[in-house]
Amino acid sequence: MAFHFNRKLPIPKEIKAQYPLSAAAAARKAERDRQISAVIRGEDNRFLLIIGPCSADNEVSVMDYICRLVPVQEKVKDKILIIPRIYTNKPRTTGQGYKGMVHQPNPEGAPDLLGGLIAIRKLHLRCLEETGFGAADEMLYPENFWYLSDLLSYVAVGARSVEDQHHRMTASAFDVATGMKNPTSGDLTVMMNSVKAAQSRHSFIYRGWDVDTTGNELAHTILRGSVNKYGRTLPNYHYEDLQTLIGLYAESGLKNPACIVDTNHSNSGKKYLEQIRIAKEVLHSRRLSPDIRKLVKGLMIESYIEDGAQSIHENIYGKSITDPCLGWEKTERLIYEIAEEC
Ligand code: PEP
Ligand code: MN
Repeated sequence: MAFHFNRKLPIPKEIKAQYPLSAAAAARKAERDRQISAVIRGEDNRFLLIIGPCSADNEVSVMDYICRLVPVQEKVKDKILIIPRIYTNKPRTTGQGYKGMVHQPNPEGAPDLLGGLIAIRKLHLRCLEETGFGAADEMLYPENFWYLSDLLSYVAVGARSVEDQHHRMTASAFDVATGMKNPTSGDLTVMMNSVKAAQSRHSFIYRGWDVDTTGNELAHTILRGSVNKYGRTLPNYHYEDLQTLIGLYAESGLKNPACIVDTNHSNSGKKYLEQIRIAKEVLHSRRLSPDIRKLVKGLMIESYIEDGAQSIHENIYGKSITDPCLGWEKTERLIYEIAEEC
């Protein structure tokens, strides 16, 4: 075996005991999760905005960003529920480059997995305690999910993970909104099958335990566009795509048909400014079709303090080191426009 076993890491219970969530914040989170769940179930007509940087690379700038969302949420609270993105695990297309705070608490430093597990728990905890927002994160590593299980209000299963059985079965245990993305190839049946798997009960091996899950009725779809065999990006947020998804849901027998549209990634071709137009097009489609209005429960937007992206060594405060993001001024304006139009 070529593994080098460096050290045994603390189990989730130990790290949770070291960095516990207060009872007051847990109660606030439960109430907010109930509201998000009501949106997914179609019992609350507000619109979800899962919004924030592609990667949570720096505690100070991510907290700065999320604190800016607090007064905005207050102003739009009758229309929109904001869920900040705190993405601490990054899937990399070639396995190279920055893999997120869990690997590198200091993006320019060497991998530090124990430091990373503590850093991601502390960041999600600060967000919840200081702003009242339960955040979204991607479940890239199912075994690590439990370190954050009491803190997340939204879980995404990414385009590169959505076909994987362990991810699907782990998602079937969650009691918060869980978005299953279409795979990078764009095959919508893979995404629908993953929702079916996540909504079902399973028995499997998890962290060395024999476990049962209840099935997750809040599992739903996320459209993120795709890449074809020639490497061309193909969006899937248009009116016709949403109609297609309505048809797939109708024949699926799945609970709580719901979709979030990811405005970046292969929908924008990572032309991050296009996110504004894409958001507006989706809202327009919702106005044209009551069925689309029912299906599309929100948007996922990549946004940070500065516009665009930078290389990891540039060190510009609040600028993405992974996918390019919409800067704060444009983001704030866009949230108010969405609140007007949704
Ligand atoms: C992301 O949300 O930053 C991401 C990696 O998405 P996807 O899995 O759709 O590529
Ligand atoms: Mn991204």
